Amino acid sequence: MQQNITTHTNKPASLPDNRGLRFDEALLIDRSEQGRTGVDLEPLKGTKLRTGQKKRDHVGLPGLSEPQVIRHFVRLSQKNFAIDTGFYPLGSCTMKHNPRLNEKMARLPKLANIHPLQDPSTMQGTLEIMYRLQTWLSTLTGLPGVSLNPAAGAHGELAGMMVIHKAHEIKGRQRKVVLVSDSAHGTNPATAAMCGYTIKTIPTTEEGFVDMEAFEAALNDDVAAFMLTNPSTVGLFDPRVKEIADKLHEVGAYFYCDGANFNAIVGRVRPADFGVDVMHINLHKTFSTPHGGGGPGSGPIVVCQELSDYLPIPHVIRHEDGHFELETNIEHSIGRIRAFSGHFGMFIRALSYMYAHGADGLKQASEDAVLNANYIMAQLKDLYHAPFQGPCMHECLLTDKHQRQHGIETMDIAKTLIEHGMHPMTVYFPLVVKGAMLIEPTESESKETIDHFITIMRHIATEAADGNIEMFKQNPISTPRRRVDEVGAARKPKLVWGE
Ligand SMILES: *Cc1c(COP(=O)(O)O)cnc(C)c1O
Repeated sequence: MQQNITTHTNKPASLPDNRGLRFDEALLIDRSEQGRTGVDLEPLKGTKLRTGQKKRDHVGLPGLSEPQVIRHFVRLSQKNFAIDTGFYPLGSCTMKHNPRLNEKMARLPKLANIHPLQDPSTMQGTLEIMYRLQTWLSTLTGLPGVSLNPAAGAHGELAGMMVIHKAHEIKGRQRKVVLVSDSAHGTNPATAAMCGYTIKTIPTTEEGFVDMEAFEAALNDDVAAFMLTNPSTVGLFDPRVKEIADKLHEVGAYFYCDGANFNAIVGRVRPADFGVDVMHINLHKTFSTPHGGGGPGSGPIVVCQELSDYLPIPHVIRHEDGHFELETNIEHSIGRIRAFSGHFGMFIRALSYMYAHGADGLKQASEDAVLNANYIMAQLKDLYHAPFQGPCMHECLLTDKHQRQHGIETMDIAKTLIEHGMHPMTVYFPLVVKGAMLIEPTESESKETIDHFITIMRHIATEAADGNIEMFKQNPISTPRRRVDEVGAARKPKLVWGE
């Protein structure tokens, strides 16, 4: 096969190392040819450049035909692990099935082809979809102010903390400190720091809850807010969360709830009822819109009445005569945080999910998610160490404490799961426990799948007890890449073939 490649191309005879690549894949390496293209466009005639624009003769795009590009990207997609190809119990990320009905709705031409600069009179239906989504999010959380703008959870955190910052500013308060739980997602302290705050960490007790003594000791009128994830990243609902909120309000501080774990409580409790002032909602977690490779997600925020005055613009309002408008004239708004109104395609998908389930169905989904996580915990905690006693919420936290005695760690267990055709759980997060394995099955998995996962996990624990370290350290063996430098892959990605 490889001989053929050289005879049909004018590349030098020395062959690249193509082992493990398919024939067409090998052909693609460095295939860019100047002048080859997927589209045939007329040369530009009489186009006027706008002020500040410069004409470039060369933009350095690779020369590839359409089939070459299609094969490249489809092949890359097949190398990936996806919720569409297997069980994906990635804790905190809520990798639930993305119903195809959502996709069908988002692809309706009249919705998919709309342009954000169209006149509002021509997109009343679009605005109504956004208005209805705002209403659902507000109803489910009990918080009246909604902004659909933020592009993801972390962006929602930033918007929410900017709203809090603005509220203090308008009230003439100079507050410098934001409290963050030590079990928080890294985006919480990062966000508070971006808003100029000093971070004070509040520890978690042995039972997995907020250390009330430390919290009360940290509380004073220099505190702007407490960023707390509830249910928390250790998988528990803090029973004293209302008391925490009350104590914050007593000193004029706000309660920022990281809503990434909303899937555990939708329809059961409204965050407003336990004192939340601001919360972000990850539509790509709780409401089944796709996560994508880091996006597009969508991270709307909901806020209490008092903070509604500071929400980003624009948001949709409904006039008495029934027509909808993008409101931009809000005196104390923090302003625009992005172009246009947000990831509209995600709004359609989330609303489609809500209508398909109905209020009772959303509640049922949360209950099933919690039941599935507890089932896993009950079936595994004799073999894996559970640092906090259940019942848990929609994810269960285990550690590698028992396996470490045999030299096998969380990473080895995770990589071995890949060999069994499953995506690993979240590893080494939250940081508060050593060797964390955060398992979130979601409601969309069948009992058979969950039983299979339990069987595999029990099998892995037995093999670990047998001390077969070599086998564990080798895994994964069947993937295109073995153990990669994950930080390096994210920070310094190599995006070109053959380098
Ligand atoms: C996912 C997550 C975030 C961030 O959300 P993104 O949409 O990924 O930006 C924040 N906090 C927690 C607890 C999360 O799980």
